[in-house]
Amino acid sequence: MAYVNANYQKLAGAYLFREVDHRVTEFCDQNPSKKDKLLRCGIGDVTEPLVPAVVTAMHSAVDDQGRGSTFHGYGPPTGYPFLREAIAQHEFQDRGIDIDAQEIFVSDGSKGDCASILDILCHENRIAITDPVYPVYVDTNVMLGHTGSVGENGQYAGLTYLPATAENRFVPDIPSVPLDLIYLCYPNNPTGETITRAQLEAWVAYALDHEAIILYDVAYKDFIRDDSLPKSIYEIPGARQCAIEFHSFSKSGGFTGVRCGFTVCPKELTGKTVDGTKLVLHDMWNRRWSTKSNGVSYIVQRGAEALYSKAGQTQATAIIDKYLENGRLLRQGCESLGLTVYGAQHSPYVWAACPEGVSSWEMFDEMLNTHQIIVMPGSGFGSCGEGYIRISAFPSAEVVAEVVNRMSKISSNIA
Ligand SMILES: *Cc1c(COP(=O)(O)O)cnc(C)c1O
Repeated sequence: MAYVNANYQKLAGAYLFREVDHRVTEFCDQNPSKKDKLLRCGIGDVTEPLVPAVVTAMHSAVDDQGRGSTFHGYGPPTGYPFLREAIAQHEFQDRGIDIDAQEIFVSDGSKGDCASILDILCHENRIAITDPVYPVYVDTNVMLGHTGSVGENGQYAGLTYLPATAENRFVPDIPSVPLDLIYLCYPNNPTGETITRAQLEAWVAYALDHEAIILYDVAYKDFIRDDSLPKSIYEIPGARQCAIEFHSFSKSGGFTGVRCGFTVCPKELTGKTVDGTKLVLHDMWNRRWSTKSNGVSYIVQRGAEALYSKAGQTQATAIIDKYLENGRLLRQGCESLGLTVYGAQHSPYVWAACPEGVSSWEMFDEMLNTHQIIVMPGSGFGSCGEGYIRISAFPSAEVVAEVVNRMSKISSNIA
């Protein structure tokens, strides 16, 4: 019989989204008449369709593929120059940031990149994640055997958990212990809060000091509407020596179903083997891509490129503005319930504190059973998420209006 990866056994219980689905399905089975009243503010998926600039570019790319003179077969594994150059120009160089097209690696989305970056890192690393956290960073390390087993508090042995709480406004304090790999995500999923430039500078200083690497996820950076807040870690001097950055067109361009993103791996970035040999991560990441992938569809890359056209930028910004307006209304709705709310000002997530003594799952059940509003229980993202719920601002304006309407009718006896 074939041997299998036993690390999968260590994965904690049901994945969060499965448990949510289970409870929702159970509710629907028991309350068939209320099924149509459900308002889905749980999962972080976009609802607005692709913008016209993207649709036009993708149509035209399909036509290219249908003509002998413009047909494209296998493309470069790390992305077409037209897209890598557009990214380097618009995301970085136009903003005075030193990143060139060779340092951009186009992919089918950043969830996969956050997982596959571990191909070029090794299990000796002391790895830190924030608590609460985007579960992908944790589970991918568990699957590769980078952790021990899960404890009663839901934490894995061998991982360092950095608490992100209301006290530190959801940006962990700089650790007092040495670490090698640190996953950070700002604007943050699930807390919806973001990091200041000074805080990010402190993290870069820590990483340089300890020769650590920061794996920086900026899936929500286009929701930042305040120029003093960092949209890229490379805005911070020194970050080229200590950071890999993960970008996605999913939330900023409505690409959750189209699939495109990219990583930035600067050429200066090095790591060492256990015998002390220094290796350049850029070369390894290049090698990893050319060995394991034949790249992303030409049609999809033309669509992503169109997001950097003038029309594409205007249209995509207008959609993010809609989600931000949803967030503003949801915050107000939660405040009308007397809840303390965080997030949603530079992200699409409201992070609301449950009333005193109410757990995340109790609040989830209350919102589902009594009000037919589906949220995410904060505890599903880590033990420090206990006592919070996450409400997504991605549903349509109509759904958000109805959520706020129901919230306004709930008296303060919610608990
Ligand atoms: C949605 C999301 C992503 C994007 O994933 P894709 O694979 O690009 O769709 C990455 N990181 C976080 C934290 C997210 O919430």
